[in-house]
Amino acid sequence: MTLLVQDYFSQSAQCTPDKVAVSCESEQISYRALDEFTNAFARQLKSKGIARGQFVPFFMKKGINSIKSILATLKADCAYIPIDIHSPQQRLRAILASSNATLVIVDDHSQPIIEALLPEGECQLLNVDQFSGGDHSPLVYSNLSIDLAYVLFTSGSTGVPKGVMIPHKAITDYIDWCVDVYAIGPDDVVANHAPLYFDNSTFDLYTAFKSGATLHLVHDELNAVIPRLVQWLNEREISVFFCVPSVLTMLLRSRRLKPDSLPALKHLICAGEVLPSAVLSEWMALYPHIQFTNMYGPTEITVDCSYHMISHPGAPGSSVPIGKPRRNMELFVKTEDGGLSTAVGAQGELLVRGTSVAYGYLGDTAKTEKAFIQNPLNNNFYDPLYCTGDLVRIDDNNDFLFLGRADDQIKYLGYRIELGEVESALNTATGVEEGVVVFNNSDDEQLRAIGALVKVNTDTTVEQLRAALQHLLPPYMVPTTIKLLEGDFPRTPNGKYDRKAVLIKVFG
Ligand code: AMP
Repeated sequence: MTLLVQDYFSQSAQCTPDKVAVSCESEQISYRALDEFTNAFARQLKSKGIARGQFVPFFMKKGINSIKSILATLKADCAYIPIDIHSPQQRLRAILASSNATLVIVDDHSQPIIEALLPEGECQLLNVDQFSGGDHSPLVYSNLSIDLAYVLFTSGSTGVPKGVMIPHKAITDYIDWCVDVYAIGPDDVVANHAPLYFDNSTFDLYTAFKSGATLHLVHDELNAVIPRLVQWLNEREISVFFCVPSVLTMLLRSRRLKPDSLPALKHLICAGEVLPSAVLSEWMALYPHIQFTNMYGPTEITVDCSYHMISHPGAPGSSVPIGKPRRNMELFVKTEDGGLSTAVGAQGELLVRGTSVAYGYLGDTAKTEKAFIQNPLNNNFYDPLYCTGDLVRIDDNNDFLFLGRADDQIKYLGYRIELGEVESALNTATGVEEGVVVFNNSDDEQLRAIGALVKVNTDTTVEQLRAALQHLLPPYMVPTTIKLLEGDFPRTPNGKYDRKAVLIKVFG
């Protein structure tokens, strides 16, 4: 039984030391080399004063260096925090402050970037490229499976990102099930498409490491040119590909997909946002040899808590179920009277329990208590239910169907965004008197966009506003359409913003 996620890696390194563990662009590294490097690098972290249980962020483009940072942090009995290299200063500093980080792992490329963002001496930087090695014998770990493996920061509605705390046991519970259900083995070739600061990547890393498969990282430049991805999937003979549905849509639109593309692909797993049935139908018609699966879950329950292996794309216009709970997880619908139901026809907010429920938000007890509640059906022991904010219905097959959100959280290009976070950044930008942020949630991927209606108090232009927002928010959160307003905002009879009317003003 594997207790700590780095053990997946070391066990495979013992079985197949010379096999390629990770490949990215033209670089690759064997299981043995990566295992030994990270043993030594973990000791280096400790020698820099990093103690058991500390949070260690890494800040760099996705690559073999990121995987080195992850494994070394875990081997130092610490929890890793992936930070988007495109994070603006404010976000970066908020993450470092809330995790009390004293050291950030960087590489030759990212060191000057972070140095430009942080005042000198604010945080110790440890450059993985500059590490020349040391004692690479295995370490003895002190951590238990209940200790934290990572903290992932997601968008927060009040403008401050929320750090979701995930322990080792949550990941092993999920990964052991994934490897069983998808029968992933050493001959599989696993792709990692998601950024490492998005928890879909947890699936890629640890299914590959547990099964001794090779992990191929989709690097940032490749990701920017989606059509090239088809060629890449082919050349690398990827057999397991996990991605957000937007990628399937973009690949279809790229017109690079041919019936004889992707012969090696066995599993195409989608999660993170709604899988449009029309897109799925086209894919299934092109590639009958691939098993398609729709998985569902928020970061707070460790990647996915339900799944639906698809045998038929369903009628046009129907929604693809998010399916049934995975092993060791339980899903409930919170009904209007506040009860919990698993009955056919039940409709309401989805609540989730099980081993993989997170410990809550780092340093934010109020938000944790709001989102993670004691199971009202259990008075005997601590049994948290995560309140997802997602609205669902249980259909006649006992499958859960995703209906939408109960709040202002959106999914845009696969990114989870709280419109409140964008709005609070907008309202701190120079020259802004008042601003409202809306999302055009169109079925047409090309029309989906974040927009803002803004009242400015000076001669501020849209270009200046955009430039200001680029300093406050990651690129995917910056509204694509910004309209300036004269007069008052459209309001509902009780004085709140009339967001539907704002949407029309912004997008027409
Ligand atoms: P994240 O924490 O980034 O994984 O985002 C979680 C949110 O993404 C969920 O609460 C849902 O709103 C949405 N989501 C995840 N998977 C699916 C899915 N298969 N279908 C529809 N929405 C999904």
